[in-house]
Amino acid sequence: MATPKRKSSHARTAQKKAHWLGSLSAPSATTCTNCGEAALSHRACPSCGYYRKRKIVEIKEEKKA
Ligand SMILES: [Zn+2]
Repeated sequence: MATPKRKSSHARTAQKKAHWLGSLSAPSATTCTNCGEAALSHRACPSCGYYRKRKIVEIKEEKKA
C-alpha cells in the first residue's frame, strides 16, 4: 500500500478542518403538524412529543410552571 512521503503540516491539517467545518449547515427545521411549534424534521416534536400524527414521547410539563 502506498504511504505518504511527508507528514502533513499543522497548517495543512487546520486548512482541511476549517474547510470541513465551514461546509456544515444548520439542521433543517419544520413546524409541528400537531402544535405548530418549530421542530426538527424526522424527529419527534420537543414540545408535544408527536411524530407523524401519533404521540411518541410523553412530555413532562414542569418547565412551564
Ligand atoms: Zn408539537
